[in-house]
Formats: sequence, C-alpha cells, structure tokens
Amino acid sequence: MTLQQMISASKSIVFFGGAGVSTESGIPDFRSADGLYHQKYDVPPETLLSHGYFLKHTKEFYRFYREKMLCLGAKPNDAHFKLAQLEQAGRLKAVVTQNIDGLHQLAGSKKVYELHGSVYRNHCISCGKQYGVEKILQGEEIPLCSCGGVIKPDVVLYGEALDDRTVAGAVHAISNSDMLIIAGTSLAVYPAAGLVQYFNGNHLVLINRDPTPMDCCCELVIRDKVGEVLGQITAE
Ligand SMILES: [Zn+2]
Repeated sequence: MTLQQMISASKSIVFFGGAGVSTESGIPDFRSADGLYHQKYDVPPETLLSHGYFLKHTKEFYRFYREKMLCLGAKPNDAHFKLAQLEQAGRLKAVVTQNIDGLHQLAGSKKVYELHGSVYRNHCISCGKQYGVEKILQGEEIPLCSCGGVIKPDVVLYGEALDDRTVAGAVHAISNSDMLIIAGTSLAVYPAAGLVQYFNGNHLVLINRDPTPMDCCCELVIRDKVGEVLGQITAE
C-alpha cells in the first residue's frame, strides 16, 4: 500500500512529529549534523537549556533562548498545512509533537499535544501568572512578573519532567488510532519516543531522512523531507 492508500483507508490517524517537521520552515534541528549541537558556544546547548542552568544563570539562558529558540518569524510548511487539512477532513485525530514552535496551530491544527511545551506560553515561577511571548521579547534581560518573580517559558528543559496531562492525552490518542505516522524524528529522545509503543492500529509509517531504530517495525518507511512527502497527499 502507498502512503495515500493508507491515509485514505484510515479514520483516526495520529501524527507523531519531531524537529524534522520544522526544518523546512527554517527552524534548526537540535540533533542533526548542522544543528545547534554542532555550533560553537562556551557551554553546550544541552547545558544552556537545562533546568539548573535556567535557575543559576537566568540572564545567559535568556540570551541564548531569545537568539536561538525563539523563531517567531518561521512559517508553517506543507507538512503543517496538510495535517491541518486532514484533521478538518475528519481523518486525523491528533498531532503529537516534540517541537515548541507552535507551527501546527499556526497552520490551523486544533488538537495538538506539545510534549516539550511551547515558546508561546510562559509563567511566573513565583506566583504562576501566565504570560504570552511578547513578555519575553520585551527589552528586559530577565523577564519579571508584576510580583517580582522570574518568568519561565513553558518549555520542558533538560532535567524537567514532561507534563502529565499532555503525555496522557498523547497516549490516549495514539492507543486509539488506526494509523500512526512518525515523522522527522530520530526517536532518540525518551520518554517522548516511548509513546509510539502504545500504537496498536493498522498502519505504521515512518518519514525521516535518516535511519531510526523503528524502521524495522514499520509497514512503510519513506526517506525524504516530511513537507515534500505530505504535500503530495490528498486530504479528502
Ligand atoms: Zn508572579
């Protein structure tokens, strides 16, 4: 069966995506060869984006975060738009994403489980008050709440746990789906990658430029760019 045939035969598709879904929108992939990990910083990005570093070096964290993590000019690509169409057509039930860029919602997707949070949501670590991304963009080196507390992005940093409700929602969607499309992820990041183990449906498809540990278990493996592949799909 082709990808189109599988999609046309399915009624409750779930899409599980990683960084490779957003690279065609110009957002760098953390773990790829030309990604952030291979650029030069005094401190490795894995440390810069850790919970401990945020608490101890908040100013430096925000310098890096504003420069490298906030890609607010990025636009959704064909992958994002096609998934939104598939949802509207009643075929796709949910998008589960490891990305924090909000591009699925920008493209029109409604049901999105953001495993690693979103740059668009932020909160005060003292009183919990919520803030939009404008607050982070404002001039202050360290964005502060009206109560004086430090504001933190609702982004899951290294050393932090995933949000329980988001994980539960993703597990529920995946375990009730009849088709799972895994795309743009090396499946190297746990516990997020472990979620695909809950799939029990008919068609398991993987779209990724490089080989992954899941290739052997999939009905169909497509080694190509996610946007180019999904762009050719008819949504009805
Ligand atoms: Zn506060």
